[in-house]
Amino acid sequence: LEEYDEEETENEISRPPVVTVMGHVDHGKTSLLDRIRKANVIAGEAGGITQHIGAYTVNIKKQAITFIDTPGHEAFTAMRSRGAQITDIAILVVAADDGVMPQTVEAINHAKAAGVPILVAINKIDKPGANPDRVKQELTEYGLVVEEWGGETIAVQVSAKTGEGIDSLLEMILLMSEVEELTADPTREARGTVIEAQVKRGKGPVASLLVQQGTLHVGDCILSGTTHGKIKAMIDDKGKRLKKAGPSTPVEISGLSDIPVAGDDFIVLENEKEARQLAEKRKEMQKGERQRRSNINLDDLFSQIQDGNIQDVNIVIKADVQGSVEAVKQSLEKLDNEAVRINVIHGAVGAINETDILLAATSNAIVIGFNVRPDKNAVKLADTEDVDIRLYRVIYDAIEDIKKAMEGMLAPEFREKIMGNAEVREVFKIPNVGAIAGSYVTDGKITRNDDVRIIRDGIVVFEGKIASIRRFKDDVKEVNTGYECGISIEKYNDLKNGDNIEAFIMEKIER
Ligand code: GDP
Repeated sequence: LEEYDEEETENEISRPPVVTVMGHVDHGKTSLLDRIRKANVIAGEAGGITQHIGAYTVNIKKQAITFIDTPGHEAFTAMRSRGAQITDIAILVVAADDGVMPQTVEAINHAKAAGVPILVAINKIDKPGANPDRVKQELTEYGLVVEEWGGETIAVQVSAKTGEGIDSLLEMILLMSEVEELTADPTREARGTVIEAQVKRGKGPVASLLVQQGTLHVGDCILSGTTHGKIKAMIDDKGKRLKKAGPSTPVEISGLSDIPVAGDDFIVLENEKEARQLAEKRKEMQKGERQRRSNINLDDLFSQIQDGNIQDVNIVIKADVQGSVEAVKQSLEKLDNEAVRINVIHGAVGAINETDILLAATSNAIVIGFNVRPDKNAVKLADTEDVDIRLYRVIYDAIEDIKKAMEGMLAPEFREKIMGNAEVREVFKIPNVGAIAGSYVTDGKITRNDDVRIIRDGIVVFEGKIASIRRFKDDVKEVNTGYECGISIEKYNDLKNGDNIEAFIMEKIER
């Protein structure tokens, strides 16, 4: 496909901002989106009935703002991982009675990694327990200093419940968008991103598209991924039929051959034949080779740094306690040298989850875990996205690894290899012996001489040696997947139901 010329043309005009709402669960993202939408539906407006098409546009002072209807940074980063960059401004919703919470921090880091400016909406201001100053205070710890305290972050106090402050929030969005100088050329061929797609009864495959450049018309032939079609009908978020849609307009279209993938881009082609041929060609290509993203891993770093190809190393840190997150962050950032800079793009407490992997995949980052493990979905995603997860028990080891990588030296010769996992189902406390964990081996095998760690809710609570493995009354050397056994751990008697016992060895790596 020919490259779309990203150069600005003489026909550029300003376009509405596209806004995504992010924040911690229950802080009011959905309520805020609903409130903004409702406030803007003028009674008796043409069409009138709001349609869920994945995004909607509101008008304030004759200027438009487009809101993406799926709140949350997961959706935002999932889109980005497919190459879509559709958000101009991120609204960070923080409940005034709850303050900055883990997903607030995630949202901040996801927006920052994407280079999207943040506007803070301090919500639930109507509540008796509301404490906006505390929220502002907490935000400073994450680099968001509000204007009245000498910073650059705009924070608006709102209530999605009463509607208070919503108008100022919308005005601030317009203000920020002016600063951003968002433009597009409506005279070009349309191009944009698929925000949602599904089969609708009586309509066949429909897709919600966000037009980002040019103007899209009914009758245009479009191509998105391996899906093509000629636009039969186009409606906006108020159900109104449109003939054309300009930049930053979300529309739902019908007339496609298939359901496109959310996050994929779309382009307009000369005619149906061309669109179909290109779609076929892409399908062939996909069959030939499974498209696999190649993300950076620590080993690549050696060669790339030596070749002078890398300037930025992005890192996501997850740890069992906040103190470790900070310590690692500080130590790593001290490793910066003239050639290479280390950016910790996200650091938080807790198990490594899918969002961490998505962020890492999108930002080409390495994930480092301290005394935490990836959950099952994260492991799967890391595999398909080719994200390098490094798990450490000691901060020093991580720093050493990265330091060696940065100096272009060899990695340590030993690396741990997971041998198997067992789930603790019942704990027996035996006087003079200690705790015996009635366990079930869920994968791999557990061998008497392996090192083990105890993982509780994704966090490593102990690391040590196996004291004994028993099946029925006998001591055994190993137990395979699908079998039950009793495991006792040297110097550890606090085993609990639901704990995971992970067996590992230190393996010599051949280079
Ligand atoms: P989300 O998970 O961030 O999308 O949060 P929701 O929009 O679902 O809101 C979570 C809860 O907070 C719901 O029970 C809402 O009714 C309530 N809520 C949201 N905004 C406000 C607000 O401004 N004031 C009050 N009092 N409650 C709110």
